[in-house]
Amino acid sequence: MDEKKELKVEEIKAAAEAQRCQVRRALHYISGFLEGPMCGRCFPCSLGSFEAKRRLENIAEGRGTGADIFALKRIAGDMLEASMCKKGKDTARFMLEWLGTDVFLSHIEGRCPERECAALVEYRVIPDKCTMCGLCRDACKHSAILGEKRKPFLSGYLPFEIRQKRCVKCGDCLGVCPEGAIEVLDAAAAEPAKVGK
Ligand code: SF4
Ligand code: SF4
Ligand code: SF4
Repeated sequence: MDEKKELKVEEIKAAAEAQRCQVRRALHYISGFLEGPMCGRCFPCSLGSFEAKRRLENIAEGRGTGADIFALKRIAGDMLEASMCKKGKDTARFMLEWLGTDVFLSHIEGRCPERECAALVEYRVIPDKCTMCGLCRDACKHSAILGEKRKPFLSGYLPFEIRQKRCVKCGDCLGVCPEGAIEVLDAAAAEPAKVGK
């Protein structure tokens, strides 16, 4: 019989470490914990984990407030004290470790220091570096890039720009640009985009 092996909390934490941003790391971990090891036998852990996931989503998606950080600290404290087993207590320790940095506060202020949280960043073409090769436009599956490829002996092309309302912040364009002509900015600090639609 092909039974799915349940991951241990340490394995879920190790997988979560692949996320550079600690908010995403915590969200990745708590989602994995809820899908696997969390058995629901005691309230501080079960209710706390569900509530923590909701609060972490708020923060990662740019809706977070100081109340979310406060709630996460309270939840982790309650789980550490009152969870019935080591899995819940370990989860609380992981959460407190991640919460012990300034990264959560940065997100509340509109900035993801690792620029991993899509809601808090914008992708832009740097006009001075762009050679109008068109590779980014070909790579974008969301038709979010406008621009005309350069042809010899002709001028007056539409420059390459990213349509912010279509961009899903997948990062595919970054990887293909040979000139390093695409940058990821803090959305809160970015100048209003010329091409929004
Ligand atoms: S602390 Fe342990 S017993 Fe309680 S819900 Fe979490 S995993 Fe289950
Ligand atoms: S980040 Fe993704 S969706 Fe946005 S412009 Fe680049 S490839 Fe397109
Ligand atoms: S891949 Fe880079 S250089 Fe080529 S058009 Fe896009 S931004 Fe410009």
